[in-house]
Amino acid sequence: MEPVLSDQQLNEFKRILKQRYQQLRKEISEELRRTDEERYIELAGRVHDPEEEAVADLLVDLNLSAIDRHIQELRQIDAALIRIAKLGYGVCVDCEQPIGLERLRANPVAERCLVCQEQFEKTHQVGATPSL
Ligand SMILES: [Zn+2]
Repeated sequence: MEPVLSDQQLNEFKRILKQRYQQLRKEISEELRRTDEERYIELAGRVHDPEEEAVADLLVDLNLSAIDRHIQELRQIDAALIRIAKLGYGVCVDCEQPIGLERLRANPVAERCLVCQEQFEKTHQVGATPSL
């Protein structure tokens, strides 16, 4: 298969993806630390008020879902880097047509062209994930 992007373009995306990867890892470790602090505060100030405990639980849950999203994005970046290494980057995984430079610039982890992505989201109800 002919690579759809030049080496220079691939290197540019590789750099963008790796930068984002580092940033995400930093954010995850910061969020984990914050979550720990909140757990500590919750334990230290425990008043045995069922309602307050529910609020504290909710805070922890919110942080974890943020971490979840970050970890999901890390996986997407990982997969994109593998596609770059295998020269499959920039090609739609469904219809095998070029995804298009503009779409990749807007969303470097995109693995589908716009048409297939819309189709995928309709059939998989992705909903919460923004489809850039
Ligand atoms: Zn497609």
